[in-house]
Amino acid sequence: MTELTELVQQPSALEILKEVFGYGDFRGPQAAIVDHVVRGGDALVLMPTGGGKSLCYQIPAIARQNAGHGVTIVVSPLIALMHDQVGALHEAGVSAAFLNSTLSFEEANAIERLLQNAELTLLYAAPERINTPRMKDLLRGLNARGKLSLFAIDEAHCVSQWGHDFRPEYRSLSLLHEMFPNVPRMALTATADALTRQDMVERLQLEQAAQFVSSFDRPNIRYSIVEKLDATRQLLRFIQNEHAGEAGIVYCQSRKRVEEIADTLQGAGINAMAYHAGLDSALRQERQDKFLRDDGMVMVATIAFGMGIDKPDVRFVAHLDMPKNIEGYYQETGRAGRDSLPANAWMTYGLADVVNQRRMIDTSEAASEEFKVVMRGKLDALLNLAEGTACRRVSLLHYFDEKSSPCGNCDNCLSPPAVWDATDAARKMLSCIYRVQQSSGISFGAGHLMDILRGKATEKVLQHSHDKLSTFGIGSDLAETQWRAVLRQLIAKNMVYVDAEAFSTLQLLPDARQVLKGQVSVMLREQTGADKSGTAARAKKVAKTSAKGIVEAALNAGALERLAQLRAWRAEVAREHNLPAFVIFHDSTLRAIAERDPQTARDLEGVAGIGAKKLEAYGAEVLRVCAA
Ligand code: ADP
Ligand code: ZN
Repeated sequence: MTELTELVQQPSALEILKEVFGYGDFRGPQAAIVDHVVRGGDALVLMPTGGGKSLCYQIPAIARQNAGHGVTIVVSPLIALMHDQVGALHEAGVSAAFLNSTLSFEEANAIERLLQNAELTLLYAAPERINTPRMKDLLRGLNARGKLSLFAIDEAHCVSQWGHDFRPEYRSLSLLHEMFPNVPRMALTATADALTRQDMVERLQLEQAAQFVSSFDRPNIRYSIVEKLDATRQLLRFIQNEHAGEAGIVYCQSRKRVEEIADTLQGAGINAMAYHAGLDSALRQERQDKFLRDDGMVMVATIAFGMGIDKPDVRFVAHLDMPKNIEGYYQETGRAGRDSLPANAWMTYGLADVVNQRRMIDTSEAASEEFKVVMRGKLDALLNLAEGTACRRVSLLHYFDEKSSPCGNCDNCLSPPAVWDATDAARKMLSCIYRVQQSSGISFGAGHLMDILRGKATEKVLQHSHDKLSTFGIGSDLAETQWRAVLRQLIAKNMVYVDAEAFSTLQLLPDARQVLKGQVSVMLREQTGADKSGTAARAKKVAKTSAKGIVEAALNAGALERLAQLRAWRAEVAREHNLPAFVIFHDSTLRAIAERDPQTARDLEGVAGIGAKKLEAYGAEVLRVCAA
């Protein structure tokens, strides 16, 4: 009877959401997920970045701790972010800690004691930590006392080799199920195509878990993919025209390129930093912190950067080189606009990207042939996205098995590309490849083939007597950029093979026959040239995407002044607490406060993002700042 009364008196999940986090309603499937996990069910949660995955385990953790079930263990690969994640929970008044190598021996001991006594609601640890004998003993002890409440496995796609950031340590997490069959588990990820999802379920033994798959759409992100001409200049123009002073991430393929681009941006007066695995870890951490804590920083990085970064006001993600596959692209672009305000995902790509990516797959010695086949298929899907003339969002979502209709918020929707019939050109290209190979007994690279087609009597052409071929000069009517587009398309359609091990020479594949025989036609997007393919032209047509503009839009002078004061106050508090500003209050929360012009603590109640603890800790100061 007493137990029952106690149960009835526990706050519901919705009450926790309001009280602790200051939000009025669950978003999308959050309510169903939380309900299922609070009751002790296993769950697989697929939700895009910014969808609100954290609350899906944090609220069950609180509810289950209230009900006497003890500690939730959050498995996360991201040691560098645990401090801020735990800091955000402390700000909300939740008892949380992390165990990782950044702690001193004494600190770690103190936390282990809290864990042993089940005095924590959430404990964050990396998989390699979970796997240590010491940690296993602690967990066993907890479980024996009925105080091991839940395992939440974040970034769960890391367990799959088909995912784009496979981490072997994740494999050991299958032991959780074996050691603690009675403890509920949930796995969360922002990315997973069908193959990765299935692999994840098997590896983590989640066959019996309920699956919660959200829409992967990120409607506030505008996707644009432009042809690479002078990538550096294109990027500069993009940032200066559309994102001056705003935070963003620029992804490049190599460390060297990262350094070069960061230099160039700095030279142009942009607050840019370089980040890649070649920098020592202290410097990496410093730059990551700076990106999170300062306003308007641009991080130029390899894909080593960004997983788990929960900065809400990243306004753009730019890819200067093509990623490996659509999951990688989607995960990386998803880091823009987590606050639901407008953001840009912008990519330049060209023939060299296609060739490079193919080469990396073909020459990878570690990979099995089966693996290579899968990787080539994934690359092809991305090529089709880049070359496609249909709505980018429809293609992206289709890849995740989701149906949608044209979005009106991607480059192809906003300015539909013209297409031209390239069937004849494709045929000329293919027969040129064939003739060259036939006459010389060896194959040649793209540049040489285009010289032949365009009738350029270069030294190499003359040396091999390729000016005598019937295909010499038959393509002088097309510009080199058009020939490149034709070739990219033929590679994307698996009609031409780029032999990475032999100087990227080109060979015909069986599918080329269809075009040579005139059985299929090839339609290509019209290349619009340097200026139009950038976003400059479009920027004039459509409203500018600027976070500042949006956050500040429609505020009267008084509110604008309050917002500026609140921002300055927040920066100070964040510095004192050694936390990013958004952990104290989001931009959207500050905006709502500024708009309300609060006179009493009452007026602050119900502002999204102000929970009970924050109201108590900051309410008086916020009122003082607003009154000043
Ligand atoms: P994910 O981990 O899925 O990328 P987060 O958990 O970081 O997403 O949430 C993204 C943002 O959305 C966070 O700033 C969070 O505070 C906010 N958020 C999540 N759930 C809600 C909700 N129910 N109401 C309002 N804001 C929410
Ligand atoms: Zn669209």
